[in-house]
Amino acid sequence: MDKFIVSARKYRPQNFSTVVGQSHITTTLKNAINNNQLAHAFLFCGPRGVGKTTCARILAKTINCENKTKDGEACNTCNSCISFDNGSSMNIHELDAASNNSVDDIRSLVEQVRFAPQAGDYKVYIVDEVHMLSAAAFNAFLKTLEEPPPYAIFILATTEKHKILPTILSRCQIFDFKRITTNDTVEHLREICDKEEITAEKTALHIIAQKSEGCMRDALSILDKIVSFTGGKITYSNTLEHLNILDEDYYFTMLDHMRKQHLSDALLLFDTINQKGFEGDTFLEGFTEFVRNLLVSKDPKAAVLLDVAEDFKQKYLQVSLETEASWMLAALNLLTDSTIGYKQARNKKLFVEMSLIKLSYLQQALEITSTDGGISKKKLTDSVKPVAFRSIPIRRIQEENIVPPPQTAGRTATLIIEQEKPAAPVAKKEPAATLPSPATGMGSLANIRAKVAEQNKSVSGPKPLVPDDLTKAVEIHISKLLAKKNNLGAGVLKTSGFEIVDDNTFTIITDNTLQQKVIEAERSELIHHLQSYFNNRALKYTIVVNKKEGANEPEEKQLNRKQQYQLMTEQYPKIKELRERLRLEVD
Ligand SMILES: [Zn+2]
Repeated sequence: MDKFIVSARKYRPQNFSTVVGQSHITTTLKNAINNNQLAHAFLFCGPRGVGKTTCARILAKTINCENKTKDGEACNTCNSCISFDNGSSMNIHELDAASNNSVDDIRSLVEQVRFAPQAGDYKVYIVDEVHMLSAAAFNAFLKTLEEPPPYAIFILATTEKHKILPTILSRCQIFDFKRITTNDTVEHLREICDKEEITAEKTALHIIAQKSEGCMRDALSILDKIVSFTGGKITYSNTLEHLNILDEDYYFTMLDHMRKQHLSDALLLFDTINQKGFEGDTFLEGFTEFVRNLLVSKDPKAAVLLDVAEDFKQKYLQVSLETEASWMLAALNLLTDSTIGYKQARNKKLFVEMSLIKLSYLQQALEITSTDGGISKKKLTDSVKPVAFRSIPIRRIQEENIVPPPQTAGRTATLIIEQEKPAAPVAKKEPAATLPSPATGMGSLANIRAKVAEQNKSVSGPKPLVPDDLTKAVEIHISKLLAKKNNLGAGVLKTSGFEIVDDNTFTIITDNTLQQKVIEAERSELIHHLQSYFNNRALKYTIVVNKKEGANEPEEKQLNRKQQYQLMTEQYPKIKELRERLRLEVD
C-alpha cells in the first residue's frame, strides 16, 4: 500500500489484449500486422481517455518488435520492446498538436520523416489532437501524408473527427474508439484492486465507473484518490462521500413522499440533503437521473439502459412497476426545466422547494387531466353553495328608459348554480342598466362643464335624483376619469348598473368584488362630484356585487372539463405538453 503508484501509469496496457473495451480495434490491428497489410496513415477518433494514444504506442512497439507472437502481439522482452517500454526508442515521435500547431512544428516533423530508422523497421509518428493544427500546418502535412516513405507510419488521434479536413480523412484508415462501458471499467478496476490488495465493494467501483463516464484515465485517477483517502478500504459510503454523490436511497424516499403527496416530508428530506452539503442543482440533476433510470426500467426492452449497480437493479425494477410512466414523463419534463431555471434563480433553496411542491402535486394534476373528470367535478360541485341575494326595491325606474335586470327586479332571489348545466365559459356582461357610451350624446368636456354649471345655477334646491340625470352625472365623472388616464375606473363605472333606491340613495351594481373595489377606491371623488351635481349633501350610494349565474367568482365557478384543463395548464404548463405527447383529448 505504501508504494501505491498512480494506477493510470502503472496499469497502462502493454499489449493489445490488455486494452480495455476496444476489442473491435485491437483485433483489426493485430490482423493487419499478421497479414502485413498495414496502412501508412491511421486516424484514431473517440472521446478522451478511452485508449487512443495507448493503442498508437502499442502499435508502434508491436510493428518494431523483433520477436512478435503468433497472435500479433509484441514480445515485451526484445531490445526494441524494452527501448519502447522505457521511452528510449528512436522510432517513435509524438507531437501534441494542441500545443504545437504551427507550420514550423509540422515542418520539423516532416524533416525528420526523411531519415530512415537506424534500428527496427518502422518510424511511427503520433500526432495527438490533430484537429488543433492550423490550416497552413495541415497543408504542409498533406504532401508527406500523400507520399510517405515506406518505413513511415502516421497515427493521428482526435476527439473531434468532424474538424478533420476531408483531404486528410480520405488518406487515413479510420478507427472509431468507443466509450468504455461501465461494466468493462468495473472489471478493470477490480483487477487492479486485486493486484494491489485493495478491498473494494462492487457498488463503490460501479459508482467510480459511472462518474468517469467511459474515460478509463478518469476512473483510474478517481480510484487512486479514494485509495489514498480511505487507506485501501473502498466502501460504497466513503466513495459517495468522496465523489459528493447522494445515496440513491434518498431518491427512493423522495419519490415515495411525492407519490403520496406528503409535501412536508419531501421538503424536510430536501432540507436534510441540503444540510449534508448537497446543493440544489446536485439534487435536481441526481433526481432527474434517478427518474430517468426508473423510466427505462419500465420497459424490459429498455431496461438494458439501466446504468446502476447490480445490487440496486431489483429495487429500480420494483419501484418502476409501481410508478406510472405518465408521472415519470411529466416529472422528467418538470425536472429538466427546473435544472435550467436553477441557474437564474436568486433564492436557490426556495426554487428547489417550488419544484418539489409541483412534483408532489403532479399525481393529482395527472388524475384530473387523464380521468373522465368525475373526481374533480364532484369536488367542485360539492362546494357550490346557494347564494343569497339581497332585494333592491326599484322606484321610479319603470318611468324611465332603463331596463331593470330581469334576475334582480323586485324579488329576493336565491340563486343556485345548476349542477348538470355547464357554466358559461366567460361571465356574460349583463349590467343592470347600461349607460350610453360617453362618445354618444356628449360634447366635449368643456361643453359638459358649462352645462353643469348652468344647471347648478338654475336650481336652487337639490336636483331630484332621477335615472336620466344620474346617467349624465356618471358620464361626466367617467370623462374626468378618462382625462386623468384612469381607464380602469372609467371602464368599470361604464359597465356598472345603477338603481335608485330613494330620493337620496342609489345603488351601483358591479359584476364582481374586484369591480366593487375599483369603484370603492373612487368613492370620495365620485360622491363629491355627485353631491355637487345634484346639489344634495345627503346623497349617498352603496356598491353591491351582482351575483348572477356565470359571474366570474371563483367560489361559485363550476368548471367544465376544458376549463379545468386550462386552469391546470396555467398552473402546470407541462401538462399541455404531456397531453400532446400522449395524445390525450380533452372533451
Ligand atoms: Zn519485442
